[in-house]
Formats: sequence, C-alpha cells, structure tokens
Amino acid sequence: MNAPLAIRPMAFIDLLAQRRRLGARIDDAILEVVNSGAFVMGPQVRDFEAQMAAFGAAERCVSCANGTDALALPLMAWGVGAGDAVFCPSFTFAATAEVPPWTGASPVFVDIHPDTYCMDPASLDAAITMVKAQGRLTPKVVIAVDLFGQPADYPAIAAVARAHGLKLIADSAQGFGATLQGKHPLHWADCVTTSFFPAKPLGCYGDGGAVLTNDIELAELMDSLRVHGKATAADIAAANFTHDPKYMAMRIGMNSRLDTIQAAILIEKLAVFPDEIVARNMIAARYNEGLRAHVDAVPSVIADGVSVWAQYTIETGDRDGLAAHLKTLGVPTACYYPIPLHLQLPYRDYPVAPGGLPVTEAKADVVISLPMHADLAADEQGRVIGGVASWRAARG
Ligand SMILES: *Cc1c(COP(=O)(O)O)cnc(C)c1O
Repeated sequence: MNAPLAIRPMAFIDLLAQRRRLGARIDDAILEVVNSGAFVMGPQVRDFEAQMAAFGAAERCVSCANGTDALALPLMAWGVGAGDAVFCPSFTFAATAEVPPWTGASPVFVDIHPDTYCMDPASLDAAITMVKAQGRLTPKVVIAVDLFGQPADYPAIAAVARAHGLKLIADSAQGFGATLQGKHPLHWADCVTTSFFPAKPLGCYGDGGAVLTNDIELAELMDSLRVHGKATAADIAAANFTHDPKYMAMRIGMNSRLDTIQAAILIEKLAVFPDEIVARNMIAARYNEGLRAHVDAVPSVIADGVSVWAQYTIETGDRDGLAAHLKTLGVPTACYYPIPLHLQLPYRDYPVAPGGLPVTEAKADVVISLPMHADLAADEQGRVIGGVASWRAARG
C-alpha cells in the first residue's frame, strides 16, 4: 500500500512570503528607527503620511493606531453623538458598526447589492427617509465599506448622502488602493479610512490605521484628537496663550498614534503596493477563469472598478462541504461574515432599513473565501482550483 502523499499546508494569507521578498529593506527600516530613538511620531510617520496622501490623491493623511480609531476620528471631529444616526452595512467587520455607539450615536443598518456585497444605494435612501420620518434620530453620516477590496458604488451613495445633507466616510480598511472610474473613493467621500492590520492588503507588522481627506480643517481636528485633543495651529492663533501650548487640551481626544516602526515598515510596503495590486488582480482573474464552472458565483466587481482583493470570495450552497474537502488537501478557507452584525447580540436592537436586510442575510449563508495574497504562486493556486473542481465533480 502506498503511503499517503504528504499534504503541504498552504497559508490563507502568506505574510512571510512577502517578508522574504522585501527582506533587508524591512530590516534596515526597522533598525533605523530603533537606533534613532524616535519611537513615537518620528520623521517616518510624517514621511509615510505624505506618501499615503500622494498615493490616495488626498490633501492630507492623518495616521492613527488602527482602522477602528480611523473611523472614530472623523465622527468625533464632526461632533457626532447621542441622538445621531450613522448608516452602514451589516455585512462587514464589527468595527464599522462598533464606532458610532462609542460616540453615543446609533448605527442604522443598510442592505447590500447582491453582486458586489457593498452598500445598496436604494436601501440607504430608504433607511434615511425612514429615520427622518420617525423623527427619533438625526441622520448625520454614511459609512460605506469597500468590502473584500472593491470600491462601493460611490457615485450613487454620495448622491444619496448629499441629497440628505449627510457626511460620507469610505471605510476602506479592506479596499485601500481600490479605484472606481480611475479615481480613489475620496473623490466622492469626505474622508477615507483604512487599517494596516497585517492581513489587510496594505498591512504593517502590528496595528495601524489612517484617515485621508481633502478637508484641511478636518485633518487638523483629527490630528488634535489623536493626541489627547492638543491645541491645533488655529487654536493657538485664536487663544493667545501666555505659556507653552503643548499641554493645553482643547477638546476630549484619545491616544491613537501610528508607531514610528510601523510607519517605517509601511513606507517600504507602500513602495511595492502598486505591483502587488497588479499581482492580486492577475491571481483573481486566474481564479475566475478556473472556478466559474464549479461554483454558484465567482466575485463580480462593480463596472469600471479595480479591486485590491482583500478576499477572493465565491458562493456555494454547500460551503461546509467545500471547506471540509479543501481542508483534506491542505487548502485553508474562511467565512466572512457568517452572521451579519444586525443579528448579533450587541447590534440586535439598532434600526435596519425598511423591509429588513434580505440580501445581507442570504449572502451570509453562501459566501466562502479562498487563499488570496500577492505572493500566491501559480502551483499553489492550481491546487486550490483543482480542489474546488474535484469537490464539484464528486458532488455530481
Ligand atoms: C479591519 C477592518 C476595520 C478595523 O481595522 P482595525 O485596524 O482592525 O481596527 C474596519 N473596517 C473594516 C471593514 C475592516 O475590515
């Protein structure tokens, strides 16, 4: 009897492959910070912010400690609070809906588009109209999510937000670098937030986040809020302090800075990010080609959109069967997101769009994500595709 073939385990997101590819560039960047002693708000933080702003076609980038704080900073800067409504999808990571309650505001959950899994502008419009008619909450902000890496339908979402006089945040934690009609989401949104959690398309070696905006006043306020409400240049000009303004707190803020070491790492990662986006799109195209015949749906990206493929997510009515089969072949899978937020305990009592969220609930039952990262080798990807095909063949 033959010994069973050894199964080479495969990473879902292979961060160490990228680490090997970048090698000494990362080592040198980290060592430079360590030897400089400028661990907090060192020069690399400002350099990285300038490079991020240039990459994202933004006037300003304010870095912070993580992608969750990046959502909190604009809400705090705009004075969002008790009695306000913040409209967001339910088919997203918890952070999107978690932050409005920090301020006292209420999330209002909106349904998604069945093809892209991103916010449905018609459901958004209906939810805002409903909240206005009820008169209990004041609509203030829309948070659209670039789910799995693709841009939300910003032209339509921004039109709804503007028509109702609301601010628009693009939660681009998964989609930073994605474009629509050749433009970044900031073209339509008041600000773009992102996360540098290691597994995100542009990740660091710990936690980090950033907000991009063209609104200089908003950027100044967020710069103050991330350092305990410190005095801004405008505060100092207006206040006529008789002492060093360094320890003047002008507003309730927080401590949310990007570590200098992370900024130094991100400078190296941002330099190769455009090539990685190209690589991710080639891998996604190969998946589409190889999988289309075997699953209920391969991903569909909005027209004129470019995804950065945080996830490659397919649909099947038997995802548990597929996951179990792939596991025997050493291929990991993941399910984002099995229970939509509006059905989870902390979020159950918040409002949802009129008619509920039928698309969100249907998609949560059928999506499954396959290994995806810029260093996914063709033979490894072949194993994934072959595994899905053999599962399909066995099912008949
Ligand atoms: C990861 C993520 C966040 C939060 O980022 P952290 O850096 O983990 O705080 C927010 N929104 C979405 C959609 C995310 O995927």
